[in-house]
Amino acid sequence: MNADVVLVGAGLQGCGVALRLAQAGRSVLVLERSIPGAEASSAAGGILSPGVEAEPGPFHHLCMESLGRWSDFAAEVERLSGSWVGFRGGGTLEVSVDDRFTPVLAGRAAALERAGVAVEILDGDAARRLEPGLSPETRGAIWFPGEASVDPRLLGRALHVAASRAGARFLQGQVRGIAVEGGRVVGVDHETGRIDAGAVVLAAGAWSLQVAGHDLPAGAVRPVRGQIAVLDTRPPLLSRVVFTDKGYLVPRPDGRILCGSTMEEAGFEKVVTAGGLLHVLQLAVEAAPGLATAPVVESWSNFRPATPDGLPILGPGRIPGLFYATGHYRNGVLLTPVTADAVSAAVLGRATPVDLAPFGPGRLSPRGAAR
Ligand SMILES: Cc1cc2nc3c(=O)[nH]c(=O)nc-3n(C[C@H](O)[C@H](O)[C@H](O)COP(=O)(O)OP(=O)(O)OC[C@H]3O[C@@H](n4cnc5c(N)ncnc54)[C@H](O)[C@@H]3O)c2cc1C
Repeated sequence: MNADVVLVGAGLQGCGVALRLAQAGRSVLVLERSIPGAEASSAAGGILSPGVEAEPGPFHHLCMESLGRWSDFAAEVERLSGSWVGFRGGGTLEVSVDDRFTPVLAGRAAALERAGVAVEILDGDAARRLEPGLSPETRGAIWFPGEASVDPRLLGRALHVAASRAGARFLQGQVRGIAVEGGRVVGVDHETGRIDAGAVVLAAGAWSLQVAGHDLPAGAVRPVRGQIAVLDTRPPLLSRVVFTDKGYLVPRPDGRILCGSTMEEAGFEKVVTAGGLLHVLQLAVEAAPGLATAPVVESWSNFRPATPDGLPILGPGRIPGLFYATGHYRNGVLLTPVTADAVSAAVLGRATPVDLAPFGPGRLSPRGAAR
């Protein structure tokens, strides 16, 4: 079996890059050991928030580039797949419900404004006019009106279908390693045998370092577990994403509200714990007391692919033919459109739409050169 490009992993990153490469006329094979989208990509809250997630600088710029692509990307994936992806505007509210966090929030708002980021600063009453379900204790909020959310489960399915319809092939099974001969990538060792390819994109999320033959240093990607509980509210108690200093609430249009999330160094132990549920349910009820009587209808955990500096790993490795689309940590859903465009451009040898230098793998080795 062979392909121009092999993608290792069919999460949002693997499927997004595969879609763009197939649209560019390349023969594309996506190798997934499980079900496409089954891991971090379907466990995510689906928040698209550069404002809360990124300090001003190159990473904020990357996040804004991706946010700017989201509306068109959602429409394109929906058109190709025939399925809704749950893209929803309304902005993000970062609220303070106690006196301790209020000055922290005010400081953040001032820093963002100085950097030219569009924010609106609301007092408690104004925040509650936007979201009447918020606690009467709400002291104030930053509102990022241009932000949005998406439903990652719907997106994962739709992006898989879209990439398939664009011509990408999908094959189930474990990739053991990247095959290198004569100093360049020649394919992968798959559980079904050797697959030849001119280029390989490693998009295996938190498991990326388990694929032999990469040129990333030890510790370049590690799992950070997040737990989420889902509450059912009828009629919907909230209509936009709400952050506090402890976590977030992500409302879906049907009234379900995702309460997340923990940030745990727990290896690959995929469980929901009493302490994790306590954390996310407590922050939910503090932010919106009406949630105390809402039924808990679902819970899960999964693993963010975290890097030492919290930035994604995007673009070419040191070995010719090897590319990365991994390490997206807390923002892989937000960064899906820009990753698809930029990493596919790098594979095709075209100019990338954003400067990938700050996100290259070379930054991660002690001497700044990929090993
Ligand atoms: C609880 C939680 C909440 C989150 N909330 C948000 C959010 O609100 N907004 C946001 O932007 N981001 C969020 N994230 C982060 C986001 O989910 C991730 O950054 C993103 O999904 C990473 O995408 P990926 O394709 O790299 O990884 P994954 O979706 O994990 O995909 C990697 C795939 O590779 C496959 N794979 C691994 N090894 C192999 C192998 N050897 N052979 C074959 N296949 C292999 C896996 O089975 C998997 O399907 C959240 C994450 C978690 C866990």
